[in-house]
Amino acid sequence: MADAGVLPRHVYTANEMISGYKVIDCRIRQQHDWSTCFYAHPQERARRRSLLRHSYAAVLCPDMVSSGSCRLGDACDKSHSVFELWLHPDKYCTRMCYDAPLL
Ligand SMILES: [Zn+2]
Ligand SMILES: [Zn+2]
Repeated sequence: MADAGVLPRHVYTANEMISGYKVIDCRIRQQHDWSTCFYAHPQERARRRSLLRHSYAAVLCPDMVSSGSCRLGDACDKSHSVFELWLHPDKYCTRMCYDAPLL
């Protein structure tokens, strides 16, 4: 099967990951695997709120943890998923990753 060209072979910088990963809406029209796509898709659980438009802390929202929803929605000041939590500038690349290939 031909590669649909979904994933550019590109290593994202920390800033690109924090500001763009699962934040920028995906413009790829072909069907593709969301989990390996950099961009956000409607109803995707990994979708993140932009920290430029929303300010939330690198702390998981207790309502999301206990019930999977939050009455504050996008206005909530806490992270709504592990993606928002771990790609938060307060968390991202703050711990040694042992999965990365040795350069
Ligand atoms: Zn996509
Ligand atoms: Zn919340």
